Amino acid sequence: MDLTSDESNMIIILMKSPFPRQPGRLIALVSAISLGLALLAGCGAPASSQNQPTSGDGPRLVASFYPLQWLTQQIAGPDTEVASLTPKGAEPHDSELELSQVSALGQADLMVTLGGFQAAVDQAIASNPPAVTVDLAPIVGLRNGDPHFWLDPTKLALAVQPITDALVQADPAGAVGYQERAAALDTALAELDSDLAAGLKPFAGAYVVTTHAAFNYFAERYGLIQIAVAGIDPEAEPTPARLKQVRDQIGQLPVKTIYFEEPASTKTAQTLADDLGLTTGQLNPVETSTGGDYLTVMRVNLIALQEGLEAG
Ligand SMILES: [Zn+2]
Repeated sequence: MDLTSDESNMIIILMKSPFPRQPGRLIALVSAISLGLALLAGCGAPASSQNQPTSGDGPRLVASFYPLQWLTQQIAGPDTEVASLTPKGAEPHDSELELSQVSALGQADLMVTLGGFQAAVDQAIASNPPAVTVDLAPIVGLRNGDPHFWLDPTKLALAVQPITDALVQADPAGAVGYQERAAALDTALAELDSDLAAGLKPFAGAYVVTTHAAFNYFAERYGLIQIAVAGIDPEAEPTPARLKQVRDQIGQLPVKTIYFEEPASTKTAQTLADDLGLTTGQLNPVETSTGGDYLTVMRVNLIALQEGLEAG
C-alpha cells in the first residue's frame, strides 16, 4: 500500500519512449581519439593498452547518479572511471548541474541515465548530447512516478545487458571484459536478491514505516508493505495533517520501528517514534555512495529490517 503520491514525478510514467531492447541501433560509433577533455577523472588513467589500442584511453562514461554509476562501473571495470553528474554524497532528487558538467557532457561516449528523474540532467542531455545515451526509465518499468527501481535488485539487473551492449558498441576492443563483468554482476545481483528474499521471508506482510517513500519496489519484491510519511522527494516535509493521519494509522498496526533514511532529516521519524513510543531505525535508499557500495548497503538494510520489523 503506497500512501504517497508525487505528481511532479508523473512525467516518468508518461514517457513511453520505445527504447529498443537492443540499444545498439541507436549507437553511433564514435572516434576513439581522445581530445584530452577532462570530463572523467579516469580519462587520463593508465588504460590497459590491449583494450584501447587506438589512443590508450578508455571510453568516456557518465552516469546521472550513484546506483547507475555503480552499475556502469561494475561492467566498465577498474581501468575506466565512470563519472557521476550528482556530486558524491548529494542526494539526486532535484540536483543541479555545474555549467562545466553540461558542456563536458557532449564529449562523453556513453551516458547512463533515468529519464524524467532529474530535470537538470534531462535538459543537459538535450542541449549537449553524449554520443550515446542509455535511458533506463523505459527499460526497468517505472510505476506511479517512482524512480527508486534500483532498490529491487531484479529491476537493477534489467539494466545490465543494455549498458553492456552500449559499452561493447562504444568500445568493441573491450567486449570480452565487459561481457565477463556483466555476467559476474548478474550473479551478484541474483545472490543479493535471493538473500533478501530468504532473510525477509519471516516478515512477509510486515509494515515498513519510512520517511521518504523510496521503498515501494523493494517492499513489493519482498512481500512487505511500505507506509511512507513523506513523499518520493526526501526534502519534502509532511504536513501536520499527514503526520496525524500516519500516526493514527500506525497506532493501529503491528509496528515497532520508524525508519529514517540518510541523508534526509531524522526529525520527522524521531518525532513520530517519540509520540508513539516506538524506536527508530535507519534504511539507506542507496541514492548516494554514503555507507558503502550498493551490495554492501543493501545487506546493511536487510539487517536493519530484520532487527526492526514485526514478524508476520
Ligand atoms: Zn529518493
